[in-house]
Amino acid sequence: MRTIMHVDMDAFFAAVEVLDHPEYAGKPLIIGGRKDSPRGVVSTASYEARKFGVHSAMPIAKAAFLCPDGIFIPGRMARYQEVSSQIHGIFPEFSPLVEPLSIDEAFLDMSGCEHFYPSLEEMGQSLKRRIKNKTGITASVGIAPNKFLAKLASDWQKPDGLFVLRPHDIEGFLQDLPVGKLWGVGQKSEAVLHRLNLRYVRDILPHSLAWLQERVGSALGSQIYYLSRGIDDRPVVPETEAQSIGHEITFAEDHESLSFLRQQLAQMGEKVGWRLREQGLYARTVSIKVRFSDFKTITRSHTLNHSFNDDDTIFREALHLLEQIKLQPVRLLGVTVSNVSAGAQLSLFSTEDQPSSRVNELMDTINRKFSPGAITKGRTLPTDE
Ligand SMILES: [Mg+2]
Repeated sequence: MRTIMHVDMDAFFAAVEVLDHPEYAGKPLIIGGRKDSPRGVVSTASYEARKFGVHSAMPIAKAAFLCPDGIFIPGRMARYQEVSSQIHGIFPEFSPLVEPLSIDEAFLDMSGCEHFYPSLEEMGQSLKRRIKNKTGITASVGIAPNKFLAKLASDWQKPDGLFVLRPHDIEGFLQDLPVGKLWGVGQKSEAVLHRLNLRYVRDILPHSLAWLQERVGSALGSQIYYLSRGIDDRPVVPETEAQSIGHEITFAEDHESLSFLRQQLAQMGEKVGWRLREQGLYARTVSIKVRFSDFKTITRSHTLNHSFNDDDTIFREALHLLEQIKLQPVRLLGVTVSNVSAGAQLSLFSTEDQPSSRVNELMDTINRKFSPGAITKGRTLPTDE
């Protein structure tokens, strides 16, 4: 049995603003845009603002209507990142197995660490105290036998919450949970389940796995069957920075134009490729990370059957991944390569393009003489589109 701890900062961006501007304390605070900003979306609302019905992903215009006396601020991503790295810097003190989920959230696998604490409650308290002392803001913590339950538990007594879900309490805890709270059930799946009169976990429990799979498909069917029983075997997957090389950019303003994003991918691809080659490394996987203006963040990756370290492959794969995403205004874009090894592993059917490798070699030589980025390929130059 695992012991998983989920940590989630409370109204994180708003909390950082109050930290830096104590005069905001206790006021309805809305991060995401100025009050009159026509295209802004709420990224975080303070708990005071939530009382007016304001929530994240809501258009600023609607928030301004609901909460006319609210304090509206565009947000300072660089500052939030700074506090975020302080927080993420704390987690390894508690467990070597940390899976960062977002700027203000992580899973910690605490299995085997239980006996360092008088109780699981004290384990959660000590993490909460450490975060509060180091950053001045509060976190909510959930502790449970798996990731799904730990995430529910951290949400249970927010803000500044701590909830320990023990095995014998799981069944009762889940009974009244709306199906939309099951991991992986989005709005579409929720509607499908509602049409079947499955509104709460207790409505799912009487049905067999086969019954569910027949009606909602095999993947979703088995997912909701097991989750409604509190079963979730997903491990905590630590981010191994050493084994990936990446670059990301937070834009000063949001961008939706594919030609702009394509150019950014090309530039980042060249930086990533350069760093790979400088270390004599090859990678097999390309990932992109896209954060939209509402701070929803998605990652996509593709693993090739051969290793590479040339800019062209990185760019081509990254662009291909980007083209498969339905674009909204983009706030942050990143490219990462992983599955890194010291030597090239050529595919049996490799058609490794030698000319491209030679171009990279030449460019690296020039870049080493001057500074990285002194010479780049045409596609990274600004376009008029
Ligand atoms: Mg949070």
